[in-house]
Amino acid sequence: MSILFRGGAVATEIETKIADLLVIGDKITTIGVDLPVLDAKVVDCDGLILLPGGVEPHAHFSLPMFDTISSDNHFTGHRAAAFGGTTTVMDFTSQSPGDSLQQSIDLSRSKAAEMAAVDYSFHVNVTDFSDNIEREIPRLPSQGLTTLKVFTAYNGRLRISNEEISKVLHIATENGMLVMIHIEDGDEIDSLVERALSDGYTAPIWHARTRPAHGEALAGRRAIEIAESSKASLYIVHITTAGLLNQINSGRKRGVSVMSETCPQYLFFTEEDLLKPDGANWVCSPPLRTVDDNEALWQGLSDGSIQTVGTDHCPFFADGETAIEYDGQQLTIPGKELGKSDFTRIPNGLPSIEHRMSLLWTFGVSAGKLSVQRFVELTATNPARIFGLYPRKGTLLPGSDADIILWDPSRKHTIGVTSSHMRTDHELWEGFEVEGYPVQVYLRGCLLVDGDKWLGKAGFGQFLHRQTNAQVL
Ligand SMILES: [Zn+2]
Repeated sequence: MSILFRGGAVATEIETKIADLLVIGDKITTIGVDLPVLDAKVVDCDGLILLPGGVEPHAHFSLPMFDTISSDNHFTGHRAAAFGGTTTVMDFTSQSPGDSLQQSIDLSRSKAAEMAAVDYSFHVNVTDFSDNIEREIPRLPSQGLTTLKVFTAYNGRLRISNEEISKVLHIATENGMLVMIHIEDGDEIDSLVERALSDGYTAPIWHARTRPAHGEALAGRRAIEIAESSKASLYIVHITTAGLLNQINSGRKRGVSVMSETCPQYLFFTEEDLLKPDGANWVCSPPLRTVDDNEALWQGLSDGSIQTVGTDHCPFFADGETAIEYDGQQLTIPGKELGKSDFTRIPNGLPSIEHRMSLLWTFGVSAGKLSVQRFVELTATNPARIFGLYPRKGTLLPGSDADIILWDPSRKHTIGVTSSHMRTDHELWEGFEVEGYPVQVYLRGCLLVDGDKWLGKAGFGQFLHRQTNAQVL
C-alpha cells in the first residue's frame, strides 16, 4: 500500500520544506514537489508539519520497585508514547545479582514481544560485574544490543565500583558499544539518608534533601575523568543540575566524548514541588532541583550542549489503594502510598512519556528557545544517531522507516489525567495548555493514532537490531 502525504511542511534535523512525501509499504521512498499520485492514498497535509516519529531514549515499563511495579507495561506505555508522537522507545533490562546479562535480556524481550505497540529496544544494565560478565558483553552487539548502563548510586544494589566502570568502558569501546551512566553520589546519599531517618525526617522533601545537587556534579566529574582516561564515550542519563552541565561542558571542551540527556520534569519542576500535599508524586531520582537549574538545562538544550530529551518515564499510582478505571476495567497497583511514613519507601519515578514532544514544542519551539530543527534533533534524530538507529529512525529520508507524525502546530490540548493514556491516577502537568499536537501518527506506514482514536495493536512493535559504532555527538 502507498500513501502520498501531500503539501505538508517536511521537517528534519536539517531543514523544513514544503513537499510531498511518498510512502510505499513501510518505507519512505520519495520526497519531492508535485509527486504523481498513481495508486497511492492521498493524505492532505496542508497546514501540517511532518515530523519524524519521536525516539524515546529512556523509559521503564513494569519495573519492579519496593514491593510494586511501575504501572505502565509495554503495551500501555507504548500506546501513551504513540499518542504523544513517539514511535520508538528504549527501555532497560535489569540484571539480578549473580545472573548473566542474557537472563535479563531474555526476560525483558519475552515480556515485551507480545505487548509492544511501537518499535523498541533495550539498554543493558550492568549491576553485578564479574569475569563472566566481561566475557559476555562482546556477544551483545550480535543481538542488536549496543548500549550498557552503569550506576554511581544505589550502593549494594545497582552500583558498581569506579574500577569496574572503567573496565566496562574499555570493553564497550573495544566492541563499538556505548556506556550510559546514572550519576549521583551513592556514598553521600546513604549517609544523609541514615542521618535523616535517625533524626525522624520522613516526608517526601527529604528524598531531595538527601540527594544533593553537588553530589551529582562531583560524581559526574569523576565519571567524565574515568571516560577521559579510558578514551571512551559516555552518555549521562537524566542530568538535573547546572553543576553537572558545567562539568560536561568543560569535559567536551577538552575533547572528552561525553553526551547527555535531560527530561521534561527537570525543565518544569523544582524541589519545592515535593513540599506539596501530594509531594510523593514528584519523587524521582535524581530529584527535582531549582529554577536556576531548570533554566540552565533549557539553555543546554538550546545551545546544543545537551543532546537528547528522554523522559525516564516510570509511573506509579499516587494512591494505589483506590481503583481507577482503565481500558474498561477497575485497576489498583500499589504506588506512592507505600512511602507515606518513610520517604525511602516512596517508589521513585513519574509519568511523562506522553507529553515529551508537546511540552518541548510549546515551551521550547513556540517560546523561541528551540528551532524546529533543534526540536527534531532532541526528540528523534539524536537519540537515533547515538543509539545506532539512524537513518532508519529519527529522520524523514528516502529509505527511512515511514514513522511519521502529522503535527498540527495550532492544535491545542489541555493536559489532564482524564485525557491521558498513561496508566496511572495522576498527572504532574495537570491543567497545562499545550499548542502543537499530533493529529495522526504512523509507524512503518501504518496508522496508529488518528486524532483521539487508537488504531494500533499489541505485538505490532518490532524489536530493533541496533548498530555498533554509532555516532558520537
Ligand atoms: Zn531511568
